[in-house]
Amino acid sequence: MPNFSLRDDVFERAAELFPTPFHLYDEQGIRQRARNLNKAFAWCPDFREYFAVKALPNPAVLRILKEEGCGLDCSSATELTLAKACGFSGDEVILSANAMPPEEFAQARALGAHINLDDITDIELLRTHGGIPECVCLRYNPGGQFSIGNTIMGNPGEAKYGFMPSQLREGLDILKGLGVRAFGLHAFLSSNTRDETYYPGLARELLSLGKRLAAETGLRFAYVDLSGGIGIPYRPEEPETDVQAIGEGVRKVYEEIVPEGGVAVKTELGRWMTGPVGWLVTRAVHEKKIYRDYIGTDASAVNLMRPAMYGAYHHITVCGKRDWPADHVYDVTGSLCENNDKFAIERNLPEIRIGDLLVIHDTGAHGWSMGYNYNGRTRSAEILYTEDGDYRMIRRAETAADYFATLDIDPAAEALGVRR
Ligand SMILES: *Cc1c(COP(=O)(O)O)cnc(C)c1O
Repeated sequence: MPNFSLRDDVFERAAELFPTPFHLYDEQGIRQRARNLNKAFAWCPDFREYFAVKALPNPAVLRILKEEGCGLDCSSATELTLAKACGFSGDEVILSANAMPPEEFAQARALGAHINLDDITDIELLRTHGGIPECVCLRYNPGGQFSIGNTIMGNPGEAKYGFMPSQLREGLDILKGLGVRAFGLHAFLSSNTRDETYYPGLARELLSLGKRLAAETGLRFAYVDLSGGIGIPYRPEEPETDVQAIGEGVRKVYEEIVPEGGVAVKTELGRWMTGPVGWLVTRAVHEKKIYRDYIGTDASAVNLMRPAMYGAYHHITVCGKRDWPADHVYDVTGSLCENNDKFAIERNLPEIRIGDLLVIHDTGAHGWSMGYNYNGRTRSAEILYTEDGDYRMIRRAETAADYFATLDIDPAAEALGVRR
């Protein structure tokens, strides 16, 4: 089930200090999840989690994760800049991008980051932008459907990412000719999966493949990068993902395939790390009864796009009414001129009054960061609920001036409040 570790008064107190809507993140929860993951993989001396920056690109959060021993997985120039500004460099950073401007390779090389190549043509781009390092990672795409047992976990044959199996050997041969001594293998074949067999299955595939490629090319097999994809229980009836069991599953496969050791294990979890320790706090500001009962909130898809984009379920609780019967049926909406701007559709909830504080769960990953500015709506603040029980604004809300900032080249700049 979603994470109910914070009491309603934590959200109520935050809403007294800061105007709604805002995302609230629980520092203790972030640290605890990082520690649980590190514990689950403690058997591997060279394990490191590289948090996927895109999931929650806030420096305050990234610094907390650094203190917990995590690195960062970046996929753009701005994410690399963020990593550097937060003190990450060298072995603490992976660039895992695709179809990006080649200058980003040079930026990553200057930072000493690991480079994960998405395509065979990237080799030449890397050579001319920053140069070829001693160790390079290749992203693998097995094609077809990715299944473990009878369960279809993903559809790599339709995915834009990675090298085909037949290209891996060729790519490594080229890289060897350019001075590469060691390689890593990366794959992301299933998203938001709570299936505990996914990582072990993926590890089996990557470890066997890497071992074979090492024997064929004479290059050292330095690491597997299991990437992201571990899911979280968004729905109340879904059980918590057992990360300890996942770590154990990977250990068994590892000991079977590379009993001699020497291959490091990396992960790039985003959702699992911070998803459950973030909440979007919003107020009911409108109620209308037409063919359905609608509760309008002061948040919208601008603050949390997943329901509109994927039809994703996010649990909603009403502060002070957790024990009330869920005997009303509402569509909970935002204000955008888009009918998919709904946080919940025909959801059973306690009776909601205007002014009630609604808590939308599991917004700590792919929440704020996926936001946009449709209808000229602006993105919310982010608040950190600290280990000491304080509330710290770690990003202010956008203002109209932020929205208009790129119109500084327009004749109306002054009227829009922008310096020309
Ligand atoms: C998005 C992404 C991740 C993180 O995925 P989650 O589903 O949040 O765990 C990790 N690695 C890469 C390359 C990604 O694109």
